[in-house]
Amino acid sequence: MGKMIYLDNAATTKTAPEVVDAMLPYFTELYGNPSSVYDFAGKTKEAVTASRQQIADAIGAKKEEIYFTAGGSESDNWALKAAFEAYKTKGNHIITTKIEHHAILHTCQYLEKERGAKITYLDVDENGRIRMEDLEKAITPETILISVMFANNEIGTVEPVKEIGMFAKEHGILFHTDAVQAFCQMPIDVEELGIDMLSSSAHKINGPKGIGFLYIRKGVKIRSFVHGGAQERKRRAGTENVPGIVGYGKAVERALSTMKERTEKETELRDYMISRIEKEIPYVRVNGHREMRLPNNVNVSFQFIEGESLLLMLDNYGICASSGSACTSGSLDPSHVLLAIGLPHEIAHGSLRMTLSEETTKEDIDFTVDHLKEIVQNLRNMSPLYEDFIKKQK
Ligand SMILES: *Cc1c(COP(=O)(O)O)cnc(C)c1O
Repeated sequence: MGKMIYLDNAATTKTAPEVVDAMLPYFTELYGNPSSVYDFAGKTKEAVTASRQQIADAIGAKKEEIYFTAGGSESDNWALKAAFEAYKTKGNHIITTKIEHHAILHTCQYLEKERGAKITYLDVDENGRIRMEDLEKAITPETILISVMFANNEIGTVEPVKEIGMFAKEHGILFHTDAVQAFCQMPIDVEELGIDMLSSSAHKINGPKGIGFLYIRKGVKIRSFVHGGAQERKRRAGTENVPGIVGYGKAVERALSTMKERTEKETELRDYMISRIEKEIPYVRVNGHREMRLPNNVNVSFQFIEGESLLLMLDNYGICASSGSACTSGSLDPSHVLLAIGLPHEIAHGSLRMTLSEETTKEDIDFTVDHLKEIVQNLRNMSPLYEDFIKKQK
């Protein structure tokens, strides 16, 4: 097999070499526990503080508002469960959407089944955006929290976060956003956007796996998620993942400093890829909003085809992509996101997500589209549905 073309950056990214270099000393020489009092441990404490500051600056927050977690899933769980606990005397109603990541959806289902929460799952339009009228209609005097993702991990659609933030503020409702896919792909300022809580994860921005943060605005009542020591202002106990935190800081520094040119380049390649696919492959549909879209996301559905077969054939050429969401592969249910934007089951099944990185080149895109074209045609030639369809066309 020749070179690998990695187009699954929404699932995870390569840890940048500078990030690994920044982390290494915290495994080898600087292994002290940040809570210890001697000078040696002070170095690790300083490194954790510096990283926290860097991350706070990246979203216009204060460093006391950044809580390190073990990743995006933990941050989402924490935000929802702890806000529900802390505000349940005020009300038990949470509003979210049908297209959230499972870390949100399954947490909501848990709160609904086991904790007496009432959850509204907002519909989205055909591009994957919520409608503000629906949000307005959904609120009740019991509504304590709105959780809407910043950008969707499958179809790349960016939600109207600022409008939601303003609306939530006006009504005295907390606003949480899962920004795992959006962070460092577009500017985020929690003040300007009216965000009270925000989840993020390092491994989606060329940082290490197993480290994330939850931003919690000062003044938001939120319970501890892990009880034990006094780490993370007593809200999330446990010795800090120092190498992870240091790597996260480095990843953010790196991603922010290249954001403008990187996302411009990705956007151009993304649109080039989409236009080639639309021009050269028949019976295809582009999923997600055309403009309000993550710079690196391409999501398309091919009629008469199974996404899983497509993935296997692409893999033969060293092309890594995804159908629907990685979290659901292994199950035969089509993606809840594709169903929410109105795709029929059979079209949703023929979907392919390709997510680019800063390293993706035009040659990679051409190679991928050339093979995609050929694979789609071969698979269709084996499909009885396609055969029937073609007969009827004649
Ligand atoms: C990847 C992802 C998560 C989960 O993050 P982990 O760090 O893998 O737990 C949550 N939400 C979105 C939108 C994601 O893309």
